[in-house]
Amino acid sequence: MNRKSLAIIAVICICSSVLQAAERTKHVLAIGIDGLRTDALDAANTPHIDALKANGSYTNVCKILGTRYQKNDTISGPGWTSYLTGVWADKHGVHDNEFGGRRIDRYPHFFNLLKQQYPDYRTASFIDWYPIDKYIVSQADVRVGLEAHGSDGYTQFDKKCADRAIKVLAEEDVRATMVYFGATDENGHRFGFHPAVPQYMKAIETVDQHVGRLMAAVKSRRNYDREDWLVLISSDHGGEGKGHGSGHKLPNIHNIYFIVSGESTAKGKLTQPIYLVDLVATALKHLDVKVQAEWQLDGKPVGLLPGQQ
Ligand SMILES: [Zn+2]
Repeated sequence: MNRKSLAIIAVICICSSVLQAAERTKHVLAIGIDGLRTDALDAANTPHIDALKANGSYTNVCKILGTRYQKNDTISGPGWTSYLTGVWADKHGVHDNEFGGRRIDRYPHFFNLLKQQYPDYRTASFIDWYPIDKYIVSQADVRVGLEAHGSDGYTQFDKKCADRAIKVLAEEDVRATMVYFGATDENGHRFGFHPAVPQYMKAIETVDQHVGRLMAAVKSRRNYDREDWLVLISSDHGGEGKGHGSGHKLPNIHNIYFIVSGESTAKGKLTQPIYLVDLVATALKHLDVKVQAEWQLDGKPVGLLPGQQ
């Protein structure tokens, strides 16, 4: 076969795979792992997260604060609100874990933005740090908001969240799903956020097992071969010592992992600057949502193949 024939075959293959991708229904699974320090994830035994990294784009220097505004603390309330709304704290108004200044009616959870264009798309949220469910989540057709309690509560409640999510992911017609895990942060506060702390590392590895079960559920779906799943993994902050407050200039707190995985993603390390607010923009892009200027999103789609971006 000559070079020209090979080139023609290559073009046909690329065109047909693009066509197939376009025909598949789009789905997003966003996984949030609280207080996930990057060097700890690197050192932990996490085969399922590693597989998602290998099948996508990633960076370990995603910033939890933007350049425009840095007056909120480096803690969970503002972090998860930025993750879920796609805007920074000067807009969404959450500066601490009291959620007092929230402007969620004006800058809502991204499920709301999705449903403006696709009211029939079903959404699901599974969270065991209750304030996020209480103050930030809305427009979730399946809504599991648990309140982890007791010592080591998040270990038990993360499993409950994962179990509930697995059932829905395997059986229901969901387009956008968010699953939150809190045991990493809890163990970091109790024992230390560091790769040398066994309890913290074990918490990361347990979350990885949940991620594996979530992915097995996705792959077991009846129509999986006609679906195009984008999986996003990120965090709200890292940690140092037994905390993560006032971490504006501390890379172990301020830098987090951002992984975007699936058939529609480019592969390898992301080289451009990546910010936590890019998650919503990326999810909406994959779901073919036309972003409206009035939403004032602060992020941009990242890690998707050129045709998707
Ligand atoms: Zn947190």
